[in-house]
Parts: sequence; structure tokens; C-alpha cells
Amino acid sequence: MIRRPLSYVALVIVLPLGTLMVLAALAAAYRGSDAALALLVVGLVGWTIMLVHNLRQLVIWARQPVGTPVPQVEGLWGRIFAEIGDRMQSECEVKERLSAELGRFQQAALAMPDGVIYLAEDDTIEWMNPMAEQHFDLDRRKDLRMALPGLVRQPEFVRYLAGREYAEPLVMRSLRRRERSLQVQVIGFAGNRRMVLSRDVSQLERLETMRRDFVSNVSHELRTPLTVVCGFLETLIDGLDDFGRDEVLQYLSLASEQSSRMQRLIEELLTLSALETGAPAPAEEQVDAQALVRDVVRDCELLSAGRHEVRLVLEGGGELLGSHKELRSAFSNLASNAVRYTPAGGHIEIGWRSGAGGGEFWVADDGIGIDSAHIPRLTERFYRVDRGRSRETGGTGLGLAIVKHVTTRHQGELAIESEPGRGSRFTLRFTPARVRPA
Ligand code: ADP
Repeated sequence: MIRRPLSYVALVIVLPLGTLMVLAALAAAYRGSDAALALLVVGLVGWTIMLVHNLRQLVIWARQPVGTPVPQVEGLWGRIFAEIGDRMQSECEVKERLSAELGRFQQAALAMPDGVIYLAEDDTIEWMNPMAEQHFDLDRRKDLRMALPGLVRQPEFVRYLAGREYAEPLVMRSLRRRERSLQVQVIGFAGNRRMVLSRDVSQLERLETMRRDFVSNVSHELRTPLTVVCGFLETLIDGLDDFGRDEVLQYLSLASEQSSRMQRLIEELLTLSALETGAPAPAEEQVDAQALVRDVVRDCELLSAGRHEVRLVLEGGGELLGSHKELRSAFSNLASNAVRYTPAGGHIEIGWRSGAGGGEFWVADDGIGIDSAHIPRLTERFYRVDRGRSRETGGTGLGLAIVKHVTTRHQGELAIESEPGRGSRFTLRFTPARVRPA
């Protein structure tokens, strides 16, 4: 409850009244008229009673909660009461508005995705939001009024806070959760006050690391075949007259093989980039599932060139709604992996099944298999179990990344089961919304 300025009221009303009474008494006494004196005294007593009554009402009103209407009094006193009431009302309104605004600011700061700490001049914490508690491992119930450098004891943070050079933000690791990376910025305001803003930049750092790895992987993947091509060409230029036609042809075909590898890599990179930046695949194309799988089996047999036994299994037909080009690329990638990672004489099964639960495409082989430790990372770009074998067989390390993206764009799911030495099974599952029964 807001206390009203009663002493001011008393001063404004009681002082002139007292003065009046004294003056009247003095005038009557001076004239010596008893009747006039008696009349004056009666009048003054009545006036005083009325005054005391009004004052009492004022006192009672002043003790009521804010917003209680002022007492209704006639004449001059009524106007005085109304004036006081109006003034009190507008002061209350200003205070209420200010406290509502302050409340809104606090709510906004509480909801901020960044950490906010207000520091007093002596580095003690005046206020903080829940995100700051998380970032610096603080507790609002017990750490308010405590010195921040005593609670966050990382030397680089303590130095940054004390250094008073806040043009650049500080990037530091969270002490308790080392995988968390924080960007801290101090902002000075209102003289010596400071505000500490913190932001979790772990995700950004991860993306930056991925970007750097990607650039270095692509450069490495291109450099190797390019070095080979350059080497062959230089050898040919240096000894053109010494080589016979067959030797020249051999060098040129090896160079051409490496160029094709670079071309394949660039094509797959472009495919991947289109898949990553594009919206979900439209469902307008109605792809005949059986026809698509038959095409993939034909490609697989061509690639195998009779080294494997390729079996086709079709359990139900139907149409797959999505992009024919993307689905074909994903299915073929799985089939070509089966050929490349299954020794000659091995078996490959390629199949399609559809029913009430949706559709399923699979490629199973009895090839070299994959250790379970590698399975969660297989769909990362350039991740290979055996780099040498992948290269030997013309792999780019992007095949499964493409398969994963295509499947996700079709709201599907990729499942990998494998056992070293026994073989692998890659399954793509599509929801009923993507599969139209035959
Ligand atoms: P790559 O071009 O190297 O084949 P992928 O992204 O297609 O790249 O596959 C990633 C890795 O997964 C391969 O390097 C290989 O080690 C492993 N892999 C994929 N398919 C099979 C399979 N059918 N059998 C065994 N290993 C496989």
C-alpha cells in the first residue's frame, strides 16, 4: 500500500485554520462584546468540529487501500479533498505504469535465449536470468549479491571482467561442461554498472568445424587424382619421343580414369548440395516401384559383370510418390555399394515390399560387412571404414550421405544392419503416405 502525505495535508489545512481562530478570538476580546464573543466562539467551535470531522475522514481515507474514492465533502474542503485525490491517483498511475514496464523488461530478460547478469560496481550479482544460471552454473537462490569472479573462476573470464576492455567478446569453454562453448560480452551502462551477456556458441563452432573438415576433405579428394593426372601428363610430355603408342595409351587411359573419378566426385557433391539446400521432395511424381527396382538390378548386374549372383525379390508393387531421379540415385548407390564391398562369388539381394504399413526397399549382401562401431557414422560425408578399399573401387565417400538425404526428403528411414565377414543389409522404409498400393 502506498502511504499518503498526511503531514502535508495537516499543514495545509490546520495551519490557516488555527490562525483564523486565533485572529477571531483576539478581535472579539478587543471589542469587549460578550454576545459577539459568544457567537464567535460558538461559530468557531462549530467550524472546528466540522474541520476535525473532515480531517478524520481524510485520515481514514488515507489509510484505505490505494484507489478508494476520496470522501465526498461540500464546499472548499471538498475541492481540497478532490485535489489531493487527483494528485494521489495520478502518482499511483505513474508508479503502476513504471512497475508494469519494469515487470515486462524483467519478463523479456527472463525469456531471452541468451544469459543476462546485472553487476553492481563491486562485481556482485544484482540480477540474472535462468539462461545465465545455466551458462555459468549459478543458482539465483543463493548466488545473488555474491561476487561473480568468485563464482566463475576461469582465469580468462576473471581477467576479461577485470580488464575493462570489452570491445571484443570473450569465447570460453564452460568449466563443468567442457563441450559447451560460450561467447561472453560485457556491456557498460549507467556509469559504472555492467551487464554480462552470454551465448552458447557450441552449435556454431560445430558447424564451423564441419565446414573446415568438409573443405579439407574435398581438397584432399580432388588433390589425389589431380596429382596422378598431372604426373602422367608430365611423364608423357618429357618422354613423348621415347614412348611407344601402347605406353602412351596406357598413361592416357590411367589419366582418364582419374579424371572420371574427379568428375564423379564433383557430380556427387553437386547432388548432395542440391539435396541439402532443397525443400522436401514433392509428392507429384508417381514412381512405379517395381520398374524402378528392376532398373536398379540391371545397373547392379552391369557393374558386377557376372562376379556376383544378383537376386530380385518383389513382394507387392505400387507407386512411390516422390522424385524419380533422387530415388533412383539412392537405390543405385546402395546396389553399387553391395557390388563394391562384396568379393567375387558373393550374393546380392535387391527387393521391394509394399503393404498397409508403407513400402520397403532393401539391398542385402554377404560381403565384407561393417563393424558396429562404424554404423552410426556411415552417412557422414566422406566417412569410410576402409579408405583404401573405397578408393580402389571408385568410391567417393558420399554415397550413403546422398542416400540418407534422399530418404529424409521423402520422410523415409534408413536402417543398416551389418556384421563383419557376414554381410550387410540396407533398408529404406517409406510411410504409407508415400506409397500408393498397386
Ligand atoms: P564410398 O564411396 O566410400 O562407398 P559410401 O558413403 O557409399 O562411400 O559408404 C561409406 C562407407 O560405408 C564405405 O566406405 C564402406 O566402408 C561402407 N559400406 C557401404 N556399403 C557397404 C556394404 N554394402 N558393405 C560393406 N561396407 C559398406
